[in-house]
Amino acid sequence: MSISKNIEKYINELPESVKLVAISKTKPNEDLMEAYNAGQRIFGENKIQEMTDKWEELPKDIQWHMVGHTQRNKVKYMAPYVNLIHAVDSLKLLKEINKRARQNERTIDCLLQIKIAEEDSKFGLDSEEANEILKSEAYSKMEHVNIIGLMGMATFTDDEEQVKSEFNYLKSVFDKFKEQYPELKELSMGMSGDYQVAVACGTTMVRIGSSIFGARNYN
Ligand SMILES: *Cc1c(COP(=O)(O)O)cnc(C)c1O
Repeated sequence: MSISKNIEKYINELPESVKLVAISKTKPNEDLMEAYNAGQRIFGENKIQEMTDKWEELPKDIQWHMVGHTQRNKVKYMAPYVNLIHAVDSLKLLKEINKRARQNERTIDCLLQIKIAEEDSKFGLDSEEANEILKSEAYSKMEHVNIIGLMGMATFTDDEEQVKSEFNYLKSVFDKFKEQYPELKELSMGMSGDYQVAVACGTTMVRIGSSIFGARNYN
């Protein structure tokens, strides 16, 4: 299927409460434009340099989401335009985002990444660490960042029950936090292989790459 057909398929299939983030990392601008012309406006990338190059060249009504692990020394490059940073995993990173957002006279929305997968390689906080950040005095004084939700990545496995239990766990953390922090609205979970499980578990944002744009070639 073509990129535009894939976008149409997801727009039709996803509930209205679920936003589609088209993960366009490694893909050329013409592929992003095909998705754009099919109506897609939210794109996600995992490398700041690549995202910035695309932001400079593509239409300005695109909303850019950083979904990858963010290095503090690169925050400044995306601070002028980034719309949502999905994977904040420390107060130090949040401080840097706040500082760079202030310099650009902006407020940047962020999600806290919660570690839900079994694999060691996945970044993220546990729910207690996330709570520490949300209730911290340091965060309460930051005027240029808003934590608007949580993000998580399930274990990469065919075992749907395991993925489901990880997503259910994240949803329960999200619901519990929302009682205390009503400004939390977004839950980013679900990728090409597991978005249907994520939708069933109550996601509000799915991050879909390869099933829109095709397999990535990293060479
Ligand atoms: C690459 C990536 C995705 C998209 O993965 P697909 O399996 O291609 O849909 C989603 N989230 C993050 C954080 C990613 O890095």
